[in-house]
Amino acid sequence: MLRTLKTKPDLSVPVVPASSATQSEKTAESPSSLCSACGFCCDGTLFDQVEISRTDAPRTLAARGAKLKREKRILPQPCSAHKNGACAVYDILPNRCKLFTCNLLAKFSKNEISFSEALATIRHAVEKIAETKRLLAESGDERAHRPLRHRIGSALASLPPVPEDPAALHSRLSLAVSQLDDALTPFSTEADKPCIKG
Ligand code: SF4
Ligand code: SF4
Repeated sequence: MLRTLKTKPDLSVPVVPASSATQSEKTAESPSSLCSACGFCCDGTLFDQVEISRTDAPRTLAARGAKLKREKRILPQPCSAHKNGACAVYDILPNRCKLFTCNLLAKFSKNEISFSEALATIRHAVEKIAETKRLLAESGDERAHRPLRHRIGSALASLPPVPEDPAALHSRLSLAVSQLDDALTPFSTEADKPCIKG
């Protein structure tokens, strides 16, 4: 079901990345304050991993607590540097993180949507994520260290489908995942169409 890894894409427009601003930059209606309320591109909701390039500082990242894998070329998500809604390695961000912005943040930055609209979109998605995780826990999956779509894929594969029974856990989880996909659509970029189911 999950043949490819979802990698934080390589985008060309640098912006303040996810949850990465210093406290002083988190002014009331800034992109950074939206990211602080979100974190989906760091916490395993949108992506499975971040690729670390040769021009990044993998040794320093590792020394600062970022848990890298595969000869320090991969930073798995949920990212070990994502702590309390912020990036603990903001000063030495991997290039992929430095260059990434989601579509929601890009629209806000271009004044195409208001701060309150963007925040409402984030809060709606937070609710859908919470509902999905609640159903995953009901299925026995409490693996908070795994990317969300992996957990969903495993749970849907292990639960018996009962299409005629909307109360069955498989049915409820499928519905929640469908609603979650919709809730995450505004975050999609041209380089990375969302699909939480993989
Ligand atoms: S998904 Fe978008 S709004 Fe959310 S933390 Fe990442 S860049 Fe910020
Ligand atoms: S290093 Fe981790 S927490 Fe920091 S911006 Fe990248 S994915 Fe997010």
